[in-house]
Amino acid sequence: MKRLSPIILVCNDDGVRSEGILALAEALRVLGTVYIVAPDRERSAASHALTLAHPLRYEKLGPRVYAVDGTPTDCVYLAVNGILKKKKIALLASGINKGTNMGDDITYSGTVSAAMEGTILGIPSIAVSLASRKRFQFHDAAEFSLRVARKVLRHGLPKDTLLNINLPNIPKEEIRGVRVTRQGKRIYENSIVTKKDPRGRKYYWIGGDNPSRVDIPGSDLEAVEQKYISVTPVHLDFTNYASMSALRRWKW
Ligand code: MN
Repeated sequence: MKRLSPIILVCNDDGVRSEGILALAEALRVLGTVYIVAPDRERSAASHALTLAHPLRYEKLGPRVYAVDGTPTDCVYLAVNGILKKKKIALLASGINKGTNMGDDITYSGTVSAAMEGTILGIPSIAVSLASRKRFQFHDAAEFSLRVARKVLRHGLPKDTLLNINLPNIPKEEIRGVRVTRQGKRIYENSIVTKKDPRGRKYYWIGGDNPSRVDIPGSDLEAVEQKYISVTPVHLDFTNYASMSALRRWKW
């Protein structure tokens, strides 16, 4: 009997050389044949951008490792429709990102967007992020990603749904468990830095220090703060169904 070896695509937004993607790919290798198709440089907060106005190129860095000069979404698109065109991809895993992707941040996230693109293209997809800015414990996060990948390969995922996973960056003995969560909400304050360049012109840098969060019970942000691994099923249908009947009563 032929041994089944599922094809697994690994992407990220921190770039093909990030330790996070290497740890993730390494962990998933026990499940099947892993391909890395990832940006050739960091593209964090690239969101779901697709490159349409100029050509895309990729470089093969090694066996089943490709660096693309585009966004995370470009990578998934190019992998599915080009590099791996003749193969059936069983799973897409994006990450492991340096830093969380929770609350409103998932709309900016290249990591989550790669998983969105996978979902749109019909591939069960997960995004994995680690809650820290330094000393990342990728090994434990990769181990957990493997557990999730096994489950996704076995059960599949609901229609138009990806799993957005965020892990506290603490030793696994200190992790209190896994929570299935809802998307939370951040509060951003003073999140722009204004300085002057050497020629005296002002410039701006987006993003300040540790934003706080709205207290939403059962949210991703709450779970990670309380030392749980957060697993959020993210749905690609953005429709607010509850508002539809009220909107229909507007005088259109
Ligand atoms: Mn990133």
